[in-house]
Amino acid sequence: MIAEFVLGTFVQQGATVEEIDWGIYDVLGPEGDLRRLTFDVEVAQDRLDCELVSIGTPLFEEIQQVSRQQGKTLVRWVPMPDIKVPGSLSEKVAKLIHFVKCRPPQVVSWTVEEGSAVLFRFHVVYQMAELVEEIVSVLIDCGLLADITSLLPSLEAQWFAVDPATDLAQDTKQPSLRRLQPLHSLAESYQQAAKVVSRQINQRIDELQREYHVQQQEEQDQSDRYYQTTLMTLRQQLQNAVDASRVQRLKEKIIATQTDWDRRREDIARSYNIVAEVSLDQSVLYLAPVVSIEATVQQRTDRWPFLLFYYPWARTWAPVVCPSCNTPVTKLGHDNEGWHCGCRE
Ligand SMILES: [Zn+2]
Repeated sequence: MIAEFVLGTFVQQGATVEEIDWGIYDVLGPEGDLRRLTFDVEVAQDRLDCELVSIGTPLFEEIQQVSRQQGKTLVRWVPMPDIKVPGSLSEKVAKLIHFVKCRPPQVVSWTVEEGSAVLFRFHVVYQMAELVEEIVSVLIDCGLLADITSLLPSLEAQWFAVDPATDLAQDTKQPSLRRLQPLHSLAESYQQAAKVVSRQINQRIDELQREYHVQQQEEQDQSDRYYQTTLMTLRQQLQNAVDASRVQRLKEKIIATQTDWDRRREDIARSYNIVAEVSLDQSVLYLAPVVSIEATVQQRTDRWPFLLFYYPWARTWAPVVCPSCNTPVTKLGHDNEGWHCGCRE
């Protein structure tokens, strides 16, 4: 995750990155300056010519600073000179999605269009007994509002991605592609990404809680033992006390100790109660070709169109999502309002 974030930021700054050996990256800056980086502690110990980058190292802080300053969305355009579309499309579509009570779909046409996806990088800080910091990346297809984070490596492998505003883009630009419609707004994509990241954060919190459970238990047991012993001693003293004012003092002391114990228990529980703080560190809008495939689906005498998408840069299909609720599906039915996954029943 850190490697992806740091190298990605370098590339957005105009640098070229090459993995010269396992875990070792040469980063050639736009001014011709070269840095040799690694994200692996063991590699850094073996290879003195490598600069170690991890959370807390000066270079990582610097990169985070840069990406914070950029703040807003960067645009990267992914040119693809020759696009290959898989053969026997109708059969492939039929494997991708099952249309309930319909004949197998027939592909009628396909076109290459310009699709878009936004990468959101979230900075997450888990506050607990110690501070845990993480960068979480979420990639959302803006046409489908689908989470396609698993395809991020394929997109980032397109090192030749350029900013559409630069001259270079003008030089290499293929016949311009029609922008795929309809597109969801950046805000909607962000909301989708926020849902994905909050699910991940909740899982991570559960994980951290399990990880720290033993430590919390030990701290609790130690405190319990201390208060139990103290109370036992006080109660013995109370049994043996004869003087009225001493009895009174001991009784008060016992109550105070019990209150203290309760407070300590709450303190321990609170210090292990994990709170996550999330902020958006950076976002990148990728404009990349997408193959839009139109199929016809027939149910008795009715015929309906259905659009599917193929990402040539990942050589894989886009997830099929329910047009009604945007959830990825493998099965769709049709009613008088259109296609849905069962969410309208
Ligand atoms: Zn649905």
